[in-house]
Amino acid sequence: MACHPVHELRPRRPEEAPAALRNGGLVKRQGLTPQGPYRPGQGATPVMVSPDYVQMSTAAAVTLGMAPGKLYRCACTRCLNLLLTYPEGCRANCAYCGLARHRESQRNYADRNFIRVDWPAAPLAWIIERVEAMGAACPFQRMCISMITHPRSDDDTKRVLAAWTSRIERARIPVSILSNPTTMTERDVQELHDLGADIFTVALDAATPELFERTRGKGVASPHSWAKYWAIFEVARTIFGPGRIGMHLIVGLGETDRELLAVCDRLHRAGGLSHLFCFFPEAGSLMDHLPAPPRSRWRRLQLARYLLEFREHPFAAFGFDHAGSLIDFGLAPDALAAVVRTGVPFRTSGCPGKDRPDVSACDRPYGDSPPSDIASYPFQPNGGDLRRIRQQLGLPAR
Ligand code: SF4
Repeated sequence: MACHPVHELRPRRPEEAPAALRNGGLVKRQGLTPQGPYRPGQGATPVMVSPDYVQMSTAAAVTLGMAPGKLYRCACTRCLNLLLTYPEGCRANCAYCGLARHRESQRNYADRNFIRVDWPAAPLAWIIERVEAMGAACPFQRMCISMITHPRSDDDTKRVLAAWTSRIERARIPVSILSNPTTMTERDVQELHDLGADIFTVALDAATPELFERTRGKGVASPHSWAKYWAIFEVARTIFGPGRIGMHLIVGLGETDRELLAVCDRLHRAGGLSHLFCFFPEAGSLMDHLPAPPRSRWRRLQLARYLLEFREHPFAAFGFDHAGSLIDFGLAPDALAAVVRTGVPFRTSGCPGKDRPDVSACDRPYGDSPPSDIASYPFQPNGGDLRRIRQQLGLPAR
């Protein structure tokens, strides 16, 4: 299946908010003191500031008993994803992201959707106490701190990490850092390592310098640079070492299969894991008018990435057509079918959990698709799921 031509995937141009609404103006003028946990839409947004307050994914809030509801076909999430929060929000403007700065004219930062869901907020101390109180029943296999682009983000990430590691044993629930390289120095990376972070990840997201610039750099009045992201990745590679680094990549921003898999291969050779996201047109983002990649393409890339990273299958074995689309896995049909049958390549990819090295703790339930048409499976696909996956891959039914 061919990729979408890159010229068809242009983000809208961002508009700056009126001066009164910039930098969290509305929230700061109202000046409401937060009263414990806060759920988006519950009322006027209070002034919540990290490290005292953090936001968490809806799945984490449900798992902690802070939000009502159940997760479709999942008992819980196995990763506690925490997000730094400030009235000013993220100062970057990434085209596919619901947290982007251009949204400050529409919605306060703490009320914005991000990877398809709301992110409720709570005092960090409240969350840590809750996790401690759950004891052995706590299902989290990992905690992750998501940095944003904000002048306080580097220091507050260290404060959140220090507060966590002072109370929760590192081996019990290891911590990953989803970094914001734009504001970081080598010293920041070293300090996060020394404070007990287990894995350091970089959200490169776009697989080529041109797409990066278009979706995260000058193309959308955003401050990020491809070179700085790779520079911090190389610093982390040295400090954290192989097996302790990772990179987020989004499939469907306009890259070819070859370009995407070349980054996965570079990362794998550096000792890192790729965390693949299927592009989803996030409501309110600058790309909310654009299509998600076809499932057939997404499944092939999930499978190829898994072969590279967990089956030591060489990049050189893949076959591509003149447009850079993957047309041959370079594996015998029976061997390929056996890997597909395990279902594991189609699960959410991310930092490892405790069950097996190729199954991520970070399951991000329905972060890149609706439950009715799952892109990344947050659970082990069953027989019916596998029939659907084989169909999407164009493989014979079994
Ligand atoms: S830096 Fe991260 S949180 Fe901020 S707009 Fe970009 S993707 Fe979203």
